[in-house]
Amino acid sequence: MAEENYINLTIDGTQVKTKEGMTILEAAKSVGIDIPTLCFLKDINEVGDCRMCIVEVEGRKGFATSCIQKVEEGMIIHTHSPAVLEARRVILDLILSNHHKDCLTCSRSGNCELQNLAIKFNVQNIEYTGKQSEHTIDDLSPSIVRDFNKCILCRRCIATCKNVQKIGAIDCMNRGFDSCISTVNNQSLRDVNCTNCGQCIEACPTGALREKDNTDEVWKALKDEKKYVIVQTAPAVRVALGEEFRYANRYKCNRKNGNGS
Ligand code: SF4
Ligand code: SF4
Repeated sequence: MAEENYINLTIDGTQVKTKEGMTILEAAKSVGIDIPTLCFLKDINEVGDCRMCIVEVEGRKGFATSCIQKVEEGMIIHTHSPAVLEARRVILDLILSNHHKDCLTCSRSGNCELQNLAIKFNVQNIEYTGKQSEHTIDDLSPSIVRDFNKCILCRRCIATCKNVQKIGAIDCMNRGFDSCISTVNNQSLRDVNCTNCGQCIEACPTGALREKDNTDEVWKALKDEKKYVIVQTAPAVRVALGEEFRYANRYKCNRKNGNGS
């Protein structure tokens, strides 16, 4: 019999005791079982859209989406059965069938969640072929390039912009094959209320969003003897830079103690 507020279940043959209310994904993680995800961003985008995290639950038809399915008493779960692995491979195949696949020249190559999963699941040939959506690249913003030919519609950018940054500059438009991430009246990010914070880039698992690269302009300015070159970071990106250099904890600590930045 289950103890109060705790659930007993079996994941991949391991007896697991978890707190009631946990998802299967969290329960698996608590015992070191890694379930792949794509659209999932903890506490920000928990919508079960991409279905990469599907698992088998004995006695149930179809697959359960582990990032949203809560644990239940007595569940017997298989996270890496042959059927689950094959279904994940098909999902990846379908996602890649509508993707430009120009990894060689992509700024995210080597640091792309989609590429990593394709390698992990040994997706070498795309079996599903057909019409591909074509999107114009938006590079009018001073700092962000949007290339939705690489977008997998995971909505992580939307959730981050809306729920974390509280801006809501982007959203999903249209339905089915015509679905795309866009702005009011499909304007460039330059022309809407985007603050150029870059957090949507951080959230994006692919190369669909990237920082504008001004390296060439900087080199040109540095070589110009008539110019003094001064570098500064915009306020909106300071925290992201701090995190990159692993100063996030110190920053948080200072803030808690009432110190400035
Ligand atoms: S840069 Fe910031 S404000 Fe602009 S779309 Fe991305 S998350 Fe939203
Ligand atoms: S732009 Fe990136 S984060 Fe946004 S939906 Fe597309 S793949 Fe996901």
